[in-house]
Amino acid sequence: PNHRLSAFNTTIFAEMSALAAATDAINLGQGFPDTDGPPEIREAAVCAIREGRGNQYPPGPGIPELRQSIAHHQFHWYGLSYDPEAEVLVTAGATEALAAALLALVEPGDEVLVLEPYYDSYAACIALAGGTRVPVTLHAGADGFTLDLDELRAAVTRHTKVILLNTPHNPTGTVLARDELSAIAELACEHDLLVISDEVYEHLVYGNRQHLPIATLPGMRERTLTISSSGKTFSFTGWKVGWVTGTPELVAAVRSVKQFLTYVSSGPFQYAIAEALRLPDTYFKEFRDELAGKRDLMVTGLREAGFTVLPPRGTYFVTADIRPLAAAGVPQCEDGPAFCRSLPERSGVVAIPNSVFYDSTEGAPFVRFAFCKRRGTLDEAVRRLRNLG
Ligand code: PMP
Ligand code: GLN
Repeated sequence: PNHRLSAFNTTIFAEMSALAAATDAINLGQGFPDTDGPPEIREAAVCAIREGRGNQYPPGPGIPELRQSIAHHQFHWYGLSYDPEAEVLVTAGATEALAAALLALVEPGDEVLVLEPYYDSYAACIALAGGTRVPVTLHAGADGFTLDLDELRAAVTRHTKVILLNTPHNPTGTVLARDELSAIAELACEHDLLVISDEVYEHLVYGNRQHLPIATLPGMRERTLTISSSGKTFSFTGWKVGWVTGTPELVAAVRSVKQFLTYVSSGPFQYAIAEALRLPDTYFKEFRDELAGKRDLMVTGLREAGFTVLPPRGTYFVTADIRPLAAAGVPQCEDGPAFCRSLPERSGVVAIPNSVFYDSTEGAPFVRFAFCKRRGTLDEAVRRLRNLG
């Protein structure tokens, strides 16, 4: 095998979902909803298949209807104008968008700044491109996880090529605020860096903070590739419809890699997602409100079970600190990986140890629970966790 991949084994999501299946535990590990997206959108996919739309190779950059809907979505929600022809590319989920973007922009020796903890595919794709990841850690504090802008500035070297952002952030639930994004934007402009911005959780932001695409900030549209996916916003993780928006030059670079990775994908689903992106605003609001309620349920439940909880401002993940359990004498709470490996057997719940998203040891006490599940399932998970120990 390619030596660049030698450090990467089976992803934690596959490992933990297999453990959930083997132990019949409640799977709050891998982030996928247990309720499929809107019935009319499912129907649109069925119709496309039946009517023979997209059953053969769709156009390489994506069907025009979907590219137009993506451009419409970026304008409607953020006032960002993209030309559907030259500035929008449909990909096989955000995963392919990330891989193709990194392979397109990063050359051996280039450094990529990533927020740590980082989503697992970032590390693998930076490595495949021959680049070096330079983690900048989001530190846990009373107000959740925060970015230290001085540490970010200090991480820039003459080899830095790309800042790979993720907001709302998996796994911490951090939503970067305007002042943080402005500082990142200034840094990118000053050092002539490109930004890849993974915004797959763009519609899952709670409370009064808002999602702000960095491409909306001065000087950033021309140096940013923005990535998103229908998996999260419309609860169709299995359809693998994602996209990239950016300047014609940047998008063309991604497209030239994409054509040799998958060429195209998801034919009939592209027609359905073209409709989904034009759903009324009430769909997006109701989806977010529903998850906000589940977030509160999990935050409260985990606190009652004895964890210290770092409430997320966005995403459908909540990070819990297991140290109070260890202090209370609950066995196998020394570190996140040991805790997560023992949890299915001892309490029938699966979680993800955040340490797999870190180079440093800072993530050791943290575990991540996904709350994109039915309320009854979350209630039961919380009940089981209360009986730990
Ligand atoms: N980026 C982040 C931060 C994610 O959490 C995920 C999915 N879990 C992806 C990318 C991949 O998205 P997709 O399923 O559309 O490939
Ligand atoms: N992004 C999902 C998560 O963080 C997992 C997707 C996958 O399994 N690759 O849980």
